[in-house]
Amino acid sequence: QGPDPDLPIVTERLSKVRHKLLVLSGKGGVGKSTFTAQLAFALASDESCDVGVVDIDICGPSIPKIMGCEREQIHQSSNGWSPVYVQDNLAVMSIGFMLPDEDSAVIWRGPKKNGMIKQFLKDVDWSSAGKLDYLLFDTPPGTSDEHLSVVQLLKASGITGAVILTTPQEVALQDVRKEIDFCRKANVPILGLVENMAAFVCPSCHGSSLIFYPTTGGADALCRELDIPLLGSIPLDPSIGRACDFGSSFVDTCPESPAAKAFVQVIDRI
Ligand code: ADP
Repeated sequence: QGPDPDLPIVTERLSKVRHKLLVLSGKGGVGKSTFTAQLAFALASDESCDVGVVDIDICGPSIPKIMGCEREQIHQSSNGWSPVYVQDNLAVMSIGFMLPDEDSAVIWRGPKKNGMIKQFLKDVDWSSAGKLDYLLFDTPPGTSDEHLSVVQLLKASGITGAVILTTPQEVALQDVRKEIDFCRKANVPILGLVENMAAFVCPSCHGSSLIFYPTTGGADALCRELDIPLLGSIPLDPSIGRACDFGSSFVDTCPESPAAKAFVQVIDRI
């Protein structure tokens, strides 16, 4: 198979993107899309920072809902597809905008999913402002067609790095090892691991309970063993679930909560 003739077009299109970040997880349901959306809101709270989010979870697109733009539509301009703008400096692209309704399933095999991802990177006009500071990729769990596709398409323009989400359970951590192996084999720099939902902070007494185990530390041990940074631990906080349902930033709505403080610490370390 020869070189992909579309690669130079993708590379040119993304040449004005300063940082491309992949958000990965071994398992589903550990908070990857939530983290991507909240990271995007947090970065875009600086008005001088232009942020894009690409939802490459083709079969399970949740970004439109949790970023509060689920009923929007994609428009065509002379420069390609215009993404959906959540605010002036925050743009989103997802297959969710193309489905007839939110209950429609996308039942596609690998090549068709890869074709869609390529279109997102080749045809979307991300930098109408002339540049984009961050392009965040929300990925499906595991290491599948979508991951391979995005890594190949971004090879020439460069990936800044990957953030890996996990819960503290051994069953989730086991799959994190595979994500780390994937990143190392694909030459994607690992920015670090984020442990999510390890603890619950009671809103009344402010006491912290470890949900999965009486003690924890599995994520920390894994990071030490495999020599990657632990970016932090974000507790389970109902305001995060609420913010997702309302498509808003939980750091803005509950800035004093332990989860918001932990989240801000995590993004400072990225
Ligand atoms: P993934 O993308 O890994 O499949 P999601 O981001 O969809 O996972 O999160 C799964 C569920 O967990 C969602 O309902 C989300 O609102 C919730 N959630 C994620 N992180 C937290 C957290 N720290 N506190 C409370 N709820 C959370």
